[in-house]
Amino acid sequence: MNDDINNTNNTIAAQNTANQQERFDIKTHEVMLYDSFEGADFSRSEVRRMKWGIGFVSDVLLMLKESVHLDNHRGNDTMVKAYKGAIDGFHRHVEKRRFICAGVRLHTIGDFYAHSNFIDIYSLYAREHGLSMEKDVLPGFSKLMDDDRFLSFAKSQGELRTGTYGLISDLIEKIFKTKPKPGSHTLMNLDSNKSINGGKPFAPGADFTKHEAGVYVATQECKLLLQRIL
Ligand SMILES: [Zn+2]
Repeated sequence: MNDDINNTNNTIAAQNTANQQERFDIKTHEVMLYDSFEGADFSRSEVRRMKWGIGFVSDVLLMLKESVHLDNHRGNDTMVKAYKGAIDGFHRHVEKRRFICAGVRLHTIGDFYAHSNFIDIYSLYAREHGLSMEKDVLPGFSKLMDDDRFLSFAKSQGELRTGTYGLISDLIEKIFKTKPKPGSHTLMNLDSNKSINGGKPFAPGADFTKHEAGVYVATQECKLLLQRIL
């Protein structure tokens, strides 16, 4: 699209490789955006404004906003509503040329995969139904959110949800070094290859981690959104 963004992209990608994608952090979100816009009809300044939204604005200014990061969400219906809300919000903001706000919605799409049990449940679902376990055929949630077969499978696994996350419990965990609770953000998140769950293989014998599966699917969904296919 242009050298400026391509250069930033390369720098970020290089830093990320150096960090071995330690966190689904600002950089991971920004790379997700830069890996997505090719072929999309947005100008340099529009993508730059989305970059502010997906990164700094979401992770710093809106750090505590649950609707952005999807922590503490529980149940298939809640998760479907949140995901559809992010998709609709993206298009609505783009229409009104509020590109920073559109970027915030892309952050939510990324966090859906980093903070929920979708990847875990899909891994079990694919194994049980004999579907391909290759990374490049993993479907985004947009392909499954209206699929009754998948949603009832998720229900049988305790439903889709994100981890519990709160300043007080986090603080207690840190100060007293207590064991993280089952269902907590700490145990569930796929933020990085170094997180407890994110570093595990996508499925037994898979050559990619759950974190890498999450980044891959999130980027594909971002691409569809930016090309207005989704
Ligand atoms: Zn987030």
